[in-house]
Amino acid sequence: MENIKLTPKRKEIVSLMNFNSVMSVLRYYPYRYEHYKLEKLSFSMHDKKITFQGKIVSKVKIERITKGRMKTSFIIDNGVQSLNVIMFNTFANKSFLYEGASIVVSGKYNSLRNELSVSTFFMGTLEKEKFVSMYSLPSSIKDHTYRQFVYYIYEQAIAHNLIKNEIPDEFIKQYKLIDLKDALYNIHNPSNEEDLRQSYRHLKYEEFLSFCLLGALKRKVYSESFGEKNKEIDYQYVNDFIELLPFKLTSDQNEVVKEILNDLSCKSCMSRLLQGDVGSGKTIVGLIALIANYTANYQGAIMAPTDILARQHYQSIIKLLEGRNIKVGLLVSDMSSKEKKELLEKIRLGLVDIIVGTHALIQEGVNYYNLGLAIIDEQHRFGVKQRVALKEKGNAIDVLYMSATPIPRTLASTIYMDMDVSTIQCYPYSERVIKTTYIQENSIKKVKSFILDYLKTNQKVYVVCPSIEESTLDISNVNEIYESYKKEFKGFTVAFLHGKLSNEEKNQIMEKFDKGDINILVSTTVIEVGINVFDANMMIIYNAERFGLAQIHQLRGRIARDGNKGYCYLLSPSMDEDAINRLSFIADNNDGFKISEYDLKRRGAGDMLGLAQSGKSPFQIANLIDDFNILVVASKDASKIIANQEKYQDIIDKTLKIIHNFDQYVD
Ligand code: ADP
Ligand code: MG
Repeated sequence: MENIKLTPKRKEIVSLMNFNSVMSVLRYYPYRYEHYKLEKLSFSMHDKKITFQGKIVSKVKIERITKGRMKTSFIIDNGVQSLNVIMFNTFANKSFLYEGASIVVSGKYNSLRNELSVSTFFMGTLEKEKFVSMYSLPSSIKDHTYRQFVYYIYEQAIAHNLIKNEIPDEFIKQYKLIDLKDALYNIHNPSNEEDLRQSYRHLKYEEFLSFCLLGALKRKVYSESFGEKNKEIDYQYVNDFIELLPFKLTSDQNEVVKEILNDLSCKSCMSRLLQGDVGSGKTIVGLIALIANYTANYQGAIMAPTDILARQHYQSIIKLLEGRNIKVGLLVSDMSSKEKKELLEKIRLGLVDIIVGTHALIQEGVNYYNLGLAIIDEQHRFGVKQRVALKEKGNAIDVLYMSATPIPRTLASTIYMDMDVSTIQCYPYSERVIKTTYIQENSIKKVKSFILDYLKTNQKVYVVCPSIEESTLDISNVNEIYESYKKEFKGFTVAFLHGKLSNEEKNQIMEKFDKGDINILVSTTVIEVGINVFDANMMIIYNAERFGLAQIHQLRGRIARDGNKGYCYLLSPSMDEDAINRLSFIADNNDGFKISEYDLKRRGAGDMLGLAQSGKSPFQIANLIDDFNILVVASKDASKIIANQEKYQDIIDKTLKIIHNFDQYVD
């Protein structure tokens, strides 16, 4: 802590909060503020939160209303108006509440009874308005002790001249930003809204700038470290393959294929994100890339997050490559050691051209002959570490990331500065319609008739429950659902698919379901990703509130794949307002871009950016959607900085240091 004198109590705060520097304290921002602003009482303020100050003009009455619950009541008067005040619990018995004392109270106003139910208060008076910073703290640290601690640290930081702008001066001037020392003062002790606004302007821009710079520099460092390549693609071969596909590529697919082929033939390595909603047809684009890479005499690999998905890719690739002399291998975790050994040997000697697999692809002991292209499907399901590991299995590897949680293009190309971004917007089938119905109950009764009607003409229904391992919902609950379906739908075959089954069992069940030998597939989220059973068009999702929106969207993306209408039922008993809003939203919206935008706004960006692994959202106060304009500006400025590195040495060095530390983390 930079030799700053601390009392034992403050030392304890430092250790409890894991602070390691003065700046780490000042960078720990309040998560909200109590805002006190005096208002004149009026009838129209009924049920609103208001602040009022005055003197206590009555006896302070304390009564016990139920066991352990105390009610304190008194009247206050400001000379013009008076108000009945009630407080519950904690405030009882406080000796500072007495007739004649000055107090500021804040809480919900009941105009009918001219009564205020206090949520916060403080003794004394208020000039005009007051913000009180609220921090997220362990219960052993008192709010007000902590505020004093921050104030002390701030004074010390000023005295020792420890707060320096991170934003280059030029941009501070250009955007008329206040200095960091003022921004930090204001964020901890704002005296009005304008102070706070100015503080946010500085800190948000700063966050975005450093984020964009990090992305841009990372890309530069990586592409330099991976060296140059020289791929000669046989375009004739690739085009023939595309011509002979059983379907015509959509215009977006064509566009993206062009971009990728171009990247492959470039000297520098490809780092491209291909994003497109579920079912938009990303796999075939990946396969075309693999084929182009093959014609240049390089091995290619595609990594999927689950065994099932890897097998499915394998099967469809084999089918599409029928009659060609391209050798494809499947590398997953549950192979016999003999099989595995043989395959590894072939991979090492270059006897297989395309390797499809799971995490198994990046394990030690997997040595490629000359890996030239790595595709990472459902990239958000992998950690940074795993993504990097595949890339390091060769010298100058092109990497294609595929993602089914697309975000608006402008946003994507701004935040994924270490990747180029391609987007597939349109679907192979124009008629892809899914009707989603949200039912506020977890009950089979509500959906039974729909299912029965549906089963008259169709054969396949998915029933999805939150996965057993991940939730508190125990296996017997999912089992119960399974049992109840067996009972309610006599004459139909019901099967239960969950993570505890062996891969072989899972595959058998999926195959039967595909063939139509199973009618109702009750499963946990193992089916979430990529599963492609063509004509299953109904899905029931239990406890939908436990799923993320992107996940629900992925799940329902399993249905309506054959051009027929799909029906999705979201069942949720939750009364939580946030859950209700989310589920209503997703029932009304079928556009993956809109959904991820909504998600981004609600949750910030951590998961979305694949940073979940580092356990931290890159933004403390900036919001990707609300502050998008600032992001655009910061992104341009980051490019400017990269182009003039000598001029901006300070911030460049600092960012490189972060990248270096990050790499160590990755290793
Ligand atoms: P996702 O983008 O979710 O990975 P897939 O690649 O699994 O989507 O494609 C979904 C389905 O659409 C697959 O069955 C695939 O064969 C089919 N498909 C892809 N492109 C086309 C196209 N241009 N025309 C018709 N069907 C297509
Ligand atoms: Mg896919």
